[in-house]
Amino acid sequence: MAAWETNVRKVIPYTPGEQPECPDIIKLNTNENPYPPAPGVTRILREMDAECLRKYPDPTADALVLALSEHYHVPKEQIFVGVGSDDVLAMSFLTFFNGEKPILFPDITYSFYDVWAELYRIPYERQPLDDRFEIRTEDYLKPCGGIVIPNPNAPTGAEKDLAELERIIAANPDVIVIIDEAYIDFGGTSALGLISKYDNLLVVQTFSKSRSLAGMRIGYAFGSKELIRYLNDAKYSFNSYTMNTVTIAMGVEAVKDDAYFQETIRKVIATREWTKEELRRLGFVFQDSRSNFIFASHPDYPAKELFAALKQQGIYVRYFEKPRIDNYLRISIGTEEEMKTLLSFLKQYVGA
Ligand code: PMP
Repeated sequence: MAAWETNVRKVIPYTPGEQPECPDIIKLNTNENPYPPAPGVTRILREMDAECLRKYPDPTADALVLALSEHYHVPKEQIFVGVGSDDVLAMSFLTFFNGEKPILFPDITYSFYDVWAELYRIPYERQPLDDRFEIRTEDYLKPCGGIVIPNPNAPTGAEKDLAELERIIAANPDVIVIIDEAYIDFGGTSALGLISKYDNLLVVQTFSKSRSLAGMRIGYAFGSKELIRYLNDAKYSFNSYTMNTVTIAMGVEAVKDDAYFQETIRKVIATREWTKEELRRLGFVFQDSRSNFIFASHPDYPAKELFAALKQQGIYVRYFEKPRIDNYLRISIGTEEEMKTLLSFLKQYVGA
């Protein structure tokens, strides 16, 4: 090791799902939405003049914040926007978790949380899900440096009851509680209504899944004025221009088109429910997902082998070679047709 390496911040980075170039595959591995973004987004893409890129973007991303404010009926001062919810979450870890006590999050969860904790040297403690992969409320009712709970959880897809989440938020008034709602639009109940009651609550959402804009990178958070002010102070101390001009304009269009949003969600949920029934028929077991993916296991067929067989067929799902979940596949919900192709392969595979 070179001497200069002693003072290098060493990190083991998060591993994102594969993004293969091949256009023919059925891609069910990164929870993307199979439907295109709202038509207004395409219009911006076609009509935007490159001249507008000469100038810096609006550092406050005011147009996007305003669109979110009108859509969700939340004052602008209570909304923060960032480059995907990953950026919003990373900025939140940096801003809010500076104590000595460990922050708490589930052992089976979004695998970026421990990466950010390591990056910022935040002490953390994973709280094991129970045998049914449920988050146990009691685990979060103790002194800690902060809490992060995804709802629905990933990769399980399970939703935690809002009343239970409120117990956790209410029991921890001295630290920040982050509810990561990346998948909330697929039938879950948001904690957004609680931000006026708890000034320590931050609710984080994204355009990547329900608004089909993973490639554009837009995330946002709702919280008390104080929380949002602290987040913006950290952001402006880091990079003023996180949101670019094109992204801001497209984000506005995506938020404004509620009819398109509702229709897309409806289709994904209908396909998810159909997929659940079919998987059950083939002997797969899984929790009742309220997200745009299903985390399934088969008692007779090892997930690792199934993953490889599916890949060979050009069907990509996600497999995590990790303790407790190494016999599960996380299957994102694609179009009806894509899911039919997946199911007919699985039917053959399990000999049903
Ligand atoms: N939270 C959870 C639970 C996720 O699964 C993801 C998607 N990888 C994110 C946050 C980040 O999504 P994005 O940065 O695309 O908004």
